[in-house]
Amino acid sequence: MLKYFIKTYGCQMNESDSERMAAVLENIGYKKSDDLKKADLIIFNMCAVRQTAVDRVHGQLKNIGKLKVKNKKLKVFLTGCILDCDKKKLSEKVDLIFDIRDLDKITNYELLKNSKFKNYNYLKITPKYKCEKTAFVPIMTGCDNFCSYCAVPYTRGREYSRPAKDILKEIHGLIKNGCEKITLLGQNVNSYKSEKSEVGSRESEILNFSDLLKLINNIKGEFKIDFLTSHPKDVSNELIKTIAECEKVSKNLHLPFQSGSSAMLKKMNRKYTRQDYLSLVKKIKKATPEIKFSTDIIVGFPGETKKQFEKTVSVVKKINFDLIYVNKYSARKGTAAEKLYKDDISLKEKKSRWRIIDNFNKKKDVDR
Ligand code: SF4
Repeated sequence: MLKYFIKTYGCQMNESDSERMAAVLENIGYKKSDDLKKADLIIFNMCAVRQTAVDRVHGQLKNIGKLKVKNKKLKVFLTGCILDCDKKKLSEKVDLIFDIRDLDKITNYELLKNSKFKNYNYLKITPKYKCEKTAFVPIMTGCDNFCSYCAVPYTRGREYSRPAKDILKEIHGLIKNGCEKITLLGQNVNSYKSEKSEVGSRESEILNFSDLLKLINNIKGEFKIDFLTSHPKDVSNELIKTIAECEKVSKNLHLPFQSGSSAMLKKMNRKYTRQDYLSLVKKIKKATPEIKFSTDIIVGFPGETKKQFEKTVSVVKKINFDLIYVNKYSARKGTAAEKLYKDDISLKEKKSRWRIIDNFNKKKDVDR
């Protein structure tokens, strides 16, 4: 029996995509291998958001030649978030590079030609969930926001929202099988849009993210609903009310703010100011006093002065985040920031700013 091995880098969306790939492969008789060396098909699901993940894939591919000598049948595929410049370099080292939206196309590949998933929207494929108790359910993919540092709009393309009926069907199935926590996924879940007519109510109205949360909240059963990721500019009053009122919706909100300096936010093309963010947090806390926030921060964005960095620190102090994912800026090829701004903050300074922010996480660990 042929064996597959999937290595996933990056975010939960990639993890969820890998679960769909596993379903396609197992449908045609492949068996999962936990050992890359014993596989006949290796798929790397890449992430281009950070250079470290890209470097790791390059590192893994160095050893593939030796494996191919031992196993003549071995094929290596690459998918996920891949920048065009990396695609060119990597294409010589692998047998196939495919866009995850074209998952059905891998079934045209000689090895996989018996699959029934031909000409299929890949999000319709029922995943092989790693864990059915806590499942990831994509509701949208892609992004139209073009934050200046981010590669996602180039690698995943424009926003696409899954039909609500498909999402509800998937969730009903999970709840029936005992799922206790559903995490709704999307690059910007707040901008979810689906036709209302798709779920049988009045026609020509748009179903937004709040509507979708309410529909999921109304599904019978004991489970929690979480969601990732929210863009502060798209958190509406309606959504704030929905989070407060829906008992199944988690009261932990991941709300990336990236920088406490309005000038930096403008350069990042985030479309909100420091004050907008602080006011939004205040409004959400007023509606849901028990809410806990986590966030993403970039330190060392081009031109970030010490004073501007201090503004980020002051937001961290004000909000008392439960968890902070802090990243040192690294230019991603083809993004606006890479084209427009010089990566002029030294690595030493980025590391020092990173430590200052990360210490807030450490203090939390001690308090816990
Ligand atoms: S909202 Fe910004 S950071 Fe998030 S995926 Fe879209 S472009 Fe990237």
